[in-house]
Amino acid sequence: MIKIKVDTHTHTNVSAHAFSTLEENLAAAAKIGLEGIAMTNHGPDLGDGAVWFHFKSARHLPRWINGVRLFPGAEVDIMDTDGRLDIEDKYLKDLEIVIASFHTPCFKENSPACDVTKAWLNVMENENVDILGHMGDGRYMCDYEAVVKKAKEKGKIIEINNHSFKVRAGSRENCRTIAQLCKKYSVPVVLSTDAHFSAEVGVVPNSIALLEDINFPEELILNTSLKKLCDYLNIEV
Ligand SMILES: [Zn+2]
Ligand SMILES: [Zn+2]
Repeated sequence: MIKIKVDTHTHTNVSAHAFSTLEENLAAAAKIGLEGIAMTNHGPDLGDGAVWFHFKSARHLPRWINGVRLFPGAEVDIMDTDGRLDIEDKYLKDLEIVIASFHTPCFKENSPACDVTKAWLNVMENENVDILGHMGDGRYMCDYEAVVKKAKEKGKIIEINNHSFKVRAGSRENCRTIAQLCKKYSVPVVLSTDAHFSAEVGVVPNSIALLEDINFPEELILNTSLKKLCDYLNIEV
């Protein structure tokens, strides 16, 4: 049975569409026995994201709060096919977990797959990006094999986002395809919640069921232990 120990994708109420404070998320994490969480708020161009100052300052937060390791991070928006992001690299470089994702209105929904693929490939040239966020979103279909192969080459991590199964059409089938490609090419994944409310933190039954169903190798799941994740990201526990 797969069990995650770090939730790599959580939001706080710096966005109006998220409903818990950082402390509430940390308390929820401690309560269910997580070893860590990443605070990955949306970038400014989403419209309801955090301002650049939030990301500049997040690095000053304590790394351990009530026995839970806090990773200051961001969920940056991919803005165009060149892979431009909505937070500057000078701030991203000081964050520990950076997820890049497609969201409306930053990148047009149902864009041609070649444009989405090109954007992913260019995003992966950015050394500050660690994780490709909710890649199975049916509104941003792409050449999954090309993207997964480049993730292997660049050491990027693919996210199997539990929230997607609920809110992003097509995710179940697409994530299955993506996970199978990750298995084929030995690309590491993380299972995350994308929690916008504290009760969601650390709870990833859909992602677990999918990976168990395809006998996904546990050694490729990085967030089953704090140490494993930190070792891969080359940061201190
Ligand atoms: Zn959100
Ligand atoms: Zn998110």
